[in-house]
Amino acid sequence: MNETTRFSSPIPTTSSSYGAIVIGGGFYGARLALMLRRRGLRVLLVEREASLLSRASARNQARVHNGYHYPRSILTSLRSRLNYRRFLNEYSDCVHRSFTHYYAVARGMSKVTAGQFVEFCRRIEAPLAAAPSRVAKLFDGSRIEAVFEVEECAFDAAALRVRMARELQNAGVEVSLSTEAVAVATTPSGLVVGLNTLAAPPVFRSAAPPVHAALALNCTYSRLNHVLNASKAEPIPAKHELTELALVEPPDALDGAAVTVMDGPFFSLMPYPSRGLHTLSHVRYTPHFSWNDKPDSPVVELRTLAGSSRFDHMMRDAARYLPAMRTTRYADSIWEIKTVMPRSEKDDSRPILLRRCAEHPALITVLGAKIDSVYDVEDALLAELDQRPARRVPRPTPTDVRRLPDFDRRPAGRR
Ligand SMILES: Cc1cc2nc3c(=O)[nH]c(=O)nc-3n(C[C@H](O)[C@H](O)[C@H](O)COP(=O)(O)OP(=O)(O)OC[C@H]3O[C@@H](n4cnc5c(N)ncnc54)[C@H](O)[C@@H]3O)c2cc1C
Repeated sequence: MNETTRFSSPIPTTSSSYGAIVIGGGFYGARLALMLRRRGLRVLLVEREASLLSRASARNQARVHNGYHYPRSILTSLRSRLNYRRFLNEYSDCVHRSFTHYYAVARGMSKVTAGQFVEFCRRIEAPLAAAPSRVAKLFDGSRIEAVFEVEECAFDAAALRVRMARELQNAGVEVSLSTEAVAVATTPSGLVVGLNTLAAPPVFRSAAPPVHAALALNCTYSRLNHVLNASKAEPIPAKHELTELALVEPPDALDGAAVTVMDGPFFSLMPYPSRGLHTLSHVRYTPHFSWNDKPDSPVVELRTLAGSSRFDHMMRDAARYLPAMRTTRYADSIWEIKTVMPRSEKDDSRPILLRRCAEHPALITVLGAKIDSVYDVEDALLAELDQRPARRVPRPTPTDVRRLPDFDRRPAGRR
């Protein structure tokens, strides 16, 4: 059953009342809608696209982070290690593991040396092994100090979409596709959320009956401030980047491999399971431009932004470190607006955001940095809803990571 059939008559025809409305049907909105439903609420999930998980949750590098990426933020790495295990245990059917992941450390311009990277991995107890010499030989030794084999996998966004749609339906969450939440207003009887129906989204809009809800979650990622601005609420400081991931067929020499060069203006080659291709991304060329939201910023539509591909730049620079990259074959580009909190850029951390709106106290905005930081957002939301004192995300230790049920204890290098 496809999603359109599954959620065939989603829009309420008369004004309806819900325990909660979740705005945005990405991975975050879908997970949080399920969480609220498990608490016994009648839940409506509205998504402006024609299918769930079709924006950032699908248009990304597909990396399930296992901590290696954040050598400058031990806390983020340890949380990543915890969430990696949780994600793999819960979504093993949506995870792609049939490749070997190599992390290479560059000699110049890298913010870590190979020695520091080894020490960092030892501290977070992340599996690390020297890459086999047939692999290490593929790299240019004058530019790459060392190559390691690590334990990190990719998620399949298409499989995740099917899984989430099934879970939402089984749980009885009502889902409205091609439906945009326009604005939220607070009334004595709760929130009223204005909706538009989009035909051939996002071109033709028509007003749909508003819905009433006791609680609303704004899970709209790059559009989080559009909802707040239209609701006359203070925006959240957020930085957006127009990003391009090149979809490629990898060189034959790198068949079955993923490569990430650390830690600076380098590149990653990652499997992109939902299209059977790889993504090539580059710290310098993937972001085409960036902007910060301001109060009353105009709505930015992704379809108006996509420009000409920088695949050639990405590939040529990657080939300086890994000459085989010259034979990478370009297939397509994936464009998406990436949204981060400005702090992420300073200290390499990946904080989550959960903010109750001052103007509409029953409206909560969430923003997570990675697919699996949804677990941190869930913990924070539960605490908020249960009015437990606000607490910081606990600082995990390597022992906490070890205590979690293990998905696979085989050390890197023996798969
Ligand atoms: C280029 C790039 C690479 C990335 N790489 C990785 C990676 O390798 N690993 C990783 O873990 N994370 C990665 N991320 C981050 C990850 O993709 C996000 O953290 C995650 O997908 C966010 O999920 P979400 O549900 O919040 O957002 P989304 O999936 O974007 O969902 C938000 C949804 O809200 C909908 N919406 C917006 N406004 C409205 C409205 N008014 N009414 C109704 N619906 C609305 C949108 O259509 C959208 O479907 C990457 C992100 C980008 C952009």
